[in-house]
Amino acid sequence: MPAAFIGHGNPMNALEVNRYTAAWRVFGESVPRPRAILVISAHWYTNATAVTAMPRPRTIHDFYGFPEELFEVQYPAPGLPDLAAEVSDVVHLTWVGADIDSWGIDHGTWSVLTHAFPDASIPVVQLSINADKPLDYHIELGAKLAPLRRRGVLIIASGNVVHNLRGMDWKLTDDGYDWAQRFDEDAKVRMLTDPSGFASLDAHRDYRSAVPTPDHFIPALYLAGLAATADDPGTSVLVDGYAYGSLSMTAYTLGLSCPDAAGEGGSPQPPESLPPDGCNI
Ligand code: ZN
Repeated sequence: MPAAFIGHGNPMNALEVNRYTAAWRVFGESVPRPRAILVISAHWYTNATAVTAMPRPRTIHDFYGFPEELFEVQYPAPGLPDLAAEVSDVVHLTWVGADIDSWGIDHGTWSVLTHAFPDASIPVVQLSINADKPLDYHIELGAKLAPLRRRGVLIIASGNVVHNLRGMDWKLTDDGYDWAQRFDEDAKVRMLTDPSGFASLDAHRDYRSAVPTPDHFIPALYLAGLAATADDPGTSVLVDGYAYGSLSMTAYTLGLSCPDAAGEGGSPQPPESLPPDGCNI
């Protein structure tokens, strides 16, 4: 099963149709039907490593100041409590708590899945981000999840490689500051050529601007960890771009031929082929 990191951006993307959401849709149409979807969302950033283990996870509207219609979005996918146990099993020696009543499906997940899997029929389980752990922990945990790919589980990490809310300029609808572009481009080279070293981007000169808090960056470490263990076609850029100056919308796939706009698949994109624009939609 392929895997992906999606730059989710503004929650309003759940309701909009644009070139990012079109790419997410093509991604959903390009993968084999998964047994379940395991999502690592920037928005479940807590002080433990946990998985949702309820049969009917609720749709969480974890934001404020948005139009009412965004609060009315429901993503009624079932859960899969057995997958919580499977996650604990494959990441052996890492303690994983089973969450039966606190979380559900947050907007980092449903803003993407409403486009990628609009009928909400595939079970969804979320894995939290343990905020107490260093970056390397998340790369290693991502790598440990790799066996789930062979068991029909689609792993999707959802965040933004560049995510500086204080720096946003609403006039720059489709543009990125120079530092945002520098960081995102260097992250792209790392993801495509040396994913195991993705965490060392914390030494990049623009890291403090691009990643003022690590919550949206960390999900990319999970895909990097999976990519570091993979022997299938490597990572590809699904779509890229910038929003409001200080967000990057770059999304990556792992183990998937470049999908074309018709969702029929394209030629394989080996990780060493740069510039990484072969899968741009
Ligand atoms: Zn977000």
